[in-house]
Amino acid sequence: MGNPGCGKTTVGKILGEKLNRTVIDVDDDVLEPTWRMSVSEKLFDVGGERFLEEEGQALCNFPTPTKSVISLSGSNPLHQKAMRHTKQNGVMIFLDVPQTDILDRLEKMKVDRIVGQEAGIGMAEILNYRQSFYEKQHDIRVTCCSGDTPEIIASKLLSALKNVHNDPGYVSTRGSDCDQPSTFLDTVLQGLAKDGGLFVRSTELPTMPRYEQQRLIDMNYSDRALRILHRWINPLEIPGGQLRDFVLKAYSKEAFQDAHVAPVRHLEKNQYLLELFHGPTASFKDYALQLMPQLFSKAVRNNDKHSKYLILVATSGDTGGAVLDGFRRHSGTVFNDTGVIVLYPLSGISELQKHQMTTMDGRNISVVGVNSNFDFCQSTIKQIFNDIEFNKTMKEQFNTKLSAANSLNWGRLIPQIVYHASGYLDLVKQRVIALGDEIDICVPTGNFGNILAAYYVKMMGFPIRKLICASNSNDVLTEFFITGCYNLRSRHLLKTSSPAIDILKSSNLERLLYHTSGNNGELIKNLYQDLQDHNHFSVSEEHLRKLQSMFVVGSCSEEECKSTIVQTLKNTGYLLDPHTAVAKTVADRYTSDVPTLITATAHYGKFGDSMLPWVDRHCVSDYTSEVVLNRLNDMSSHPPLHLGLKDMCQKPITHTVQCQPDIQDITKYVVDIARKM
Ligand SMILES: *Cc1c(COP(=O)(O)O)cnc(C)c1O
Repeated sequence: MGNPGCGKTTVGKILGEKLNRTVIDVDDDVLEPTWRMSVSEKLFDVGGERFLEEEGQALCNFPTPTKSVISLSGSNPLHQKAMRHTKQNGVMIFLDVPQTDILDRLEKMKVDRIVGQEAGIGMAEILNYRQSFYEKQHDIRVTCCSGDTPEIIASKLLSALKNVHNDPGYVSTRGSDCDQPSTFLDTVLQGLAKDGGLFVRSTELPTMPRYEQQRLIDMNYSDRALRILHRWINPLEIPGGQLRDFVLKAYSKEAFQDAHVAPVRHLEKNQYLLELFHGPTASFKDYALQLMPQLFSKAVRNNDKHSKYLILVATSGDTGGAVLDGFRRHSGTVFNDTGVIVLYPLSGISELQKHQMTTMDGRNISVVGVNSNFDFCQSTIKQIFNDIEFNKTMKEQFNTKLSAANSLNWGRLIPQIVYHASGYLDLVKQRVIALGDEIDICVPTGNFGNILAAYYVKMMGFPIRKLICASNSNDVLTEFFITGCYNLRSRHLLKTSSPAIDILKSSNLERLLYHTSGNNGELIKNLYQDLQDHNHFSVSEEHLRKLQSMFVVGSCSEEECKSTIVQTLKNTGYLLDPHTAVAKTVADRYTSDVPTLITATAHYGKFGDSMLPWVDRHCVSDYTSEVVLNRLNDMSSHPPLHLGLKDMCQKPITHTVQCQPDIQDITKYVVDIARKM
């Protein structure tokens, strides 16, 4: 499938030969024999509209043979019924040739049989209109570039087919070779691997050649996302047309208040901010959680239509709001059968974070304040998960399965790959760099999910030089990347003003260690056994050197964080949130001769309570959240006020359940919810 002049007919013939299959060219083998006249004669006989209908009918009446290669006409995809008929037994491949090339070719070929031409519509307009049908209908996209010969296109197509059919699937980081790999959607439903490890690609990581990166530069966020995600998601599991739907819904105007979704803005010198707080709940977690529930719904529909799901979430502040908003908006038809329970610590999160969760509306949503800390919430949920008896009872009595939407879920990780790549492409688009030039990426890091996604972008072949991993005073990662020893002995969690990265067990590091150890599941299993038994593990000298060749680390004290916020506001007018300030502090220390992209992971508004006294000498302590937001907004020229946060201040609190740190009570509550669902 593809535009007129994209090479469908010739490529189809080459494919037929190579795969030893019958070749059917719709124009020559279906339409002209049916009509007993040429396609252009027909078009001028009956006019465009009638033509499309008759063309569609002809294809519907044609019994689709299996084991064949079919070259469609350029206009077939405009006829829904014909496409459904043709797709029954096969995959739809879109030869995505740049439009400028198509225009050149059509000009040279003096083509006169394209629907729309007869009505005098300009060719570029016709092509644009058609593109949207190809996008909707395709399963697999083959990206072609200027000057690709039919032979080259055919070989790209064959390798794309090989990739989807030989998909190695996902294994556990702690698994052995004999593991049965899981599919992508399995990993989304399951969350964690059965042996306690994390799901990873079992073979090489996907790449994206430079010519495909080039095609992305002028695209918007959703189009970039579609193409990047399809490097990671097998189109046989989620076809292109459907993934496109998901992406368009996720990154819509309704959810993201900046039209660029994840804009890049110059901060100072060679530092640029990748603003990831324009989503509905004002942290970067929205970028994953506006997409993930749609993947989850699909997985439920595909694999397990008959169970209900109850998603348990422990949050240290940002995850809860993002999960609730994502599931509320997007779980689509299965939402009736999917519930979410969020446990949050009554102390230790900001007022606005709390308000965000307790005012969230939507069906099957429960928000519970626990009179304890995040660790208790997290470990309670793990215990409930690992309680085999309890899970069995839930299934038998309420037909309900438990699931997790935490940052270890693979379905939450891959959407994060997109924005780092998009940030790079925006720097090219803004002419800060040329395609191929290197940049550094700096990320405030807690559970290592965000920076791991940046590592994947580097592995895909985007020119990322160093990944700068920034910690606050909980600097266990900084120590690890310097010494090779991950050491929790004699460490206790410190409370800081950047609470989302107050983490000592940085779980996604496990995935990085797997990839950089040559996919050595045995080694990872031993390392994490060491961590559990002795509270520390060490990697080999060689392994450490490999990590150090890619990662730069640093930590930021509370004083430094505050002073970075104040200084940056003074120098640039820009108000950083405390997490982004941690990253900037570390990036400042690592003087770099290439542009540094700092990921701005939250909007300052979420942490206004603690920040206002730092930047506003005249503030008093009993402002309402809304006044805090307004005062901060008055003091800074950027970024703009987050309207979602402002609106939320007005919303009434609807979730008032609080409980003592007692696992029995919480379990009872979970049962209650399952019963009502
Ligand atoms: C979750 C979060 C982080 C930490 O991201 P990880 O992927 O866990 O490393 C950083 N900043 C903010 C604002 C967050 O909400």
